[in-house]
Amino acid sequence: MWLAMVAACAMPLAAAPIPVLIVDGQNNHKWQETTPVLKRLLEETGKFTVDVSTSPAKGGDFSTYNPDFAKYKVVVSNYSDYAGDPWPEALRKKLTDYVGAGGGFVSFHAADNAFPMDKEYNRMIAVGGWGGRTEKDGPMIRFRDGKMVLETKPGKAGSHGKRLPYVVVTRDAKHPIMKGLPAEWLHHEDELYDSLKGPAENVGLLATAWSDPANRGTGENEPALMTVRYGKGRVFHTILGHDVEAMRCVGFIVTLQRGTEWAATGKVTQKAPKDFPGKEKVSLR
Ligand code: ZN
Repeated sequence: MWLAMVAACAMPLAAAPIPVLIVDGQNNHKWQETTPVLKRLLEETGKFTVDVSTSPAKGGDFSTYNPDFAKYKVVVSNYSDYAGDPWPEALRKKLTDYVGAGGGFVSFHAADNAFPMDKEYNRMIAVGGWGGRTEKDGPMIRFRDGKMVLETKPGKAGSHGKRLPYVVVTRDAKHPIMKGLPAEWLHHEDELYDSLKGPAENVGLLATAWSDPANRGTGENEPALMTVRYGKGRVFHTILGHDVEAMRCVGFIVTLQRGTEWAATGKVTQKAPKDFPGKEKVSLR
């Protein structure tokens, strides 16, 4: 009995799980397939409890759709109105106010296509694509001569070539999300977004990927993983994860799990796993 108590006392105190809300319901991607994967990937760390809030379908009545962001430490968006409905203005404001007051936000893949008309949403994600975004929305993020630079150039924001594997290069190895991960790793076949444009304020560039002109790319190091400070809130922006196949990449999985924890708490307590990919070969789960 005594020994059992000692053993119990010696156990490290388990941190309370971090409540996460995934928002979905409309997307020009298969959100019905990708949301359950996002939920599973977060839950399997043992660090999160995950709820899902699904909006009305396209053309539906949004008047009673009102997710309670304040109950959560972080909101993960799998929503895009690219081919659907923007959230009502009051709900978009509720989200950006929540993050500005200290909430966490994760922009997952096509979530950076959402709400092009919303100035605060664009500030929150730093850069975005499609939906009529152009240089009027802001510069592009580039990585040249060892540092991040902003470049304003006319033209549409947002493009990608075929889904192929590509190398992701760490640009901020000291950031908690990237700490202990390889300097370069091969990502599984996925879209490599290029020419995203936006306010690009308070942005931290965690990782880039070279956009190959032979695959309709820009010949630039495009931002792949970013952080944004928005008011008192933290945002993790990943361009990765077009579909469930791309989401099998351990590089995607680990940066999503760590990025969500960082957005929620400002810390990362997850160790780098042994199956993280290197530069030569993809690693899938
Ligand atoms: Zn996509």
